[in-house]
Amino acid sequence: MAEDTNIYEVIIVGAGPAGLAAAIYTTRRALKTLVLSKDLGGQAALTNNIENYPGFNKITGQDLMQKFYEQATLTGTEFDFTEVESLAKEGDLFILKTAKNQTFQSKAVILAFGLTPRNLNVPGEKEFGGKGVAYCATCDGPLYKGKTVAVIGGGNSALDAAEFLSKVASKVYLLNRKDVFRGEEILLKKVQESSNVELIYNAETKEVVGDTRVNKLIYTQDGTDKEIVVDGIFVEIGHLAKTDWVENLMELNERKEIKISRDCETKTPGLFAAGDITDISYKQVVISAGEGSKAALQAYKFLQGSENIVLPDWSPKK
Ligand code: NDP
Repeated sequence: MAEDTNIYEVIIVGAGPAGLAAAIYTTRRALKTLVLSKDLGGQAALTNNIENYPGFNKITGQDLMQKFYEQATLTGTEFDFTEVESLAKEGDLFILKTAKNQTFQSKAVILAFGLTPRNLNVPGEKEFGGKGVAYCATCDGPLYKGKTVAVIGGGNSALDAAEFLSKVASKVYLLNRKDVFRGEEILLKKVQESSNVELIYNAETKEVVGDTRVNKLIYTQDGTDKEIVVDGIFVEIGHLAKTDWVENLMELNERKEIKISRDCETKTPGLFAAGDITDISYKQVVISAGEGSKAALQAYKFLQGSENIVLPDWSPKK
């Protein structure tokens, strides 16, 4: 393509499993590829132990993402760590603007920017953000050595966080607003076997309390307000799709995830999406990596000018 260094054949937004796998595939097809991302590894890099990525019995999310990154770099991917703030299509080219005031252009774009952690939206949460309220156990957990913490949530993220924190903190409360966990049995078993983890069911978080830092969590159980004394609170209650900034170029589902065809196409030719930000059923590292690879191959096909590209029918189902 042209000599202008800001013009690429493919720009990938996001450097989690989907984005990095896509980059490995596009560069191996000799497509000039740039990855724009605000971080490396996305949610996967924040996962304590990954035990279900084939080929690795057990690996930290950070180590696995580092391996993806090294492989993408070896194949020739360029990286710029910044947030993409806008995406538009002008003629055949996509224009991307970043938080660092850069402008990039490309013929194809793969959106793989994942999901954003959900907030509790209770009094005190915002006020004590960074002062005891945390959203990443692997990042902030080590600060709570020998202390008492609460983890809120009932899915794999909460179980994973509780398991990790049980090895650092002296006491871990795990508060689930339901009476069953929706995470994997094997993770739940590990948590149940940790002597310093106390499971609290049917507990709806009401308020985060503190002075200069968090010192208490108030929750409601069976209509009664209860409190526990804690040094830290880990909010692990799932994620949201932040897709408002691209919604004019694609169809979104009711959860604001990007609707894709089975080959990762969106309704805009040349614009693909992959991984957790899409409407696929399972949010797992191995699935995101596969989806990213698929998006890359479809982008390659698109750039080859294949006449066989079948765009999905986006009309509502009758
Ligand atoms: P999930 O959507 O699976 O679970 C979210 C949990 O948070 C649910 O228990 C939900 O409760 C609860 N919740 C939501 N809102 C609130 C609220 N306001 N107050 C209290 N609780 C709330 O999200 P996860 O982040 O746990 O998992 C996301 C994906 O990532 C999953 O597919 C998971 O399998 C994967 N993952 C895998 C890991 C692994 O394999 N080791 C590790 C981490 C994540 P309710 O059920 O009542 O809605």
